[in-house]
Amino acid sequence: MPDTLFTLPDPKTVPVNGETATYPVGRIFCVGRNYAAHAAEMGVEVDREAPFYFTKAASHAQASDTALPYPPGTENFHYEMELAVAIGKPVFQADLTQATAAIYAYGCALDMTRRDLQQALRAKQRPWDLGKDVEGCAVFAPLSKAATMGHIGPQKIRLSVNGKQRQNATLADMVWSVPELIRHLSGFYHLRPGDLILTGTPAGVGPVVAGDTLTGSIDGLDPIRLTIT
Ligand code: MN
Repeated sequence: MPDTLFTLPDPKTVPVNGETATYPVGRIFCVGRNYAAHAAEMGVEVDREAPFYFTKAASHAQASDTALPYPPGTENFHYEMELAVAIGKPVFQADLTQATAAIYAYGCALDMTRRDLQQALRAKQRPWDLGKDVEGCAVFAPLSKAATMGHIGPQKIRLSVNGKQRQNATLADMVWSVPELIRHLSGFYHLRPGDLILTGTPAGVGPVVAGDTLTGSIDGLDPIRLTIT
């Protein structure tokens, strides 16, 4: 390798239960409108022909149990509680069996969003980056290996703000299942270890202000926590 002109920050990593080594964050893919009730509260309908995605820079990953400064450029900063899926092996143009086999681990995640900018960009048919690709706004709790999680479906996914419950759904409410998402996404990308997929948020999203503490849970996984400062 030739010398580089300067050094980039080390990659972000996520702890894995049962491992001393951590999971390095490669790419972060996020699914839009994967819970019908959330799509409805956003004033849009679920597209049942195919899922759609946006991405967040890997450098924007943030650990659970940390403080996130309220970001600039928004007056309506929202939480979205989500199931994260960590890819464990290379997979491209997968079928459902290959997609399932590519799942390494699951974890709780937060897709923190400048909602005002996302909606203004959406209205202008512009990309959502300023609304979604926000520094520190892909928050990951420690991962749990897929085998310990079992079948995805009956688990509750919940989020509370300052102890008051705001989101409460089950993973079976997802429009596109995890294997269906991986099958579809692998038609466009050579998915590989390090790739994380945020699978969408249920209904009940809302704003936070400095001083708020978010607590999210999915049955069988480590909870996630974030304080806004
Ligand atoms: Mn989301």
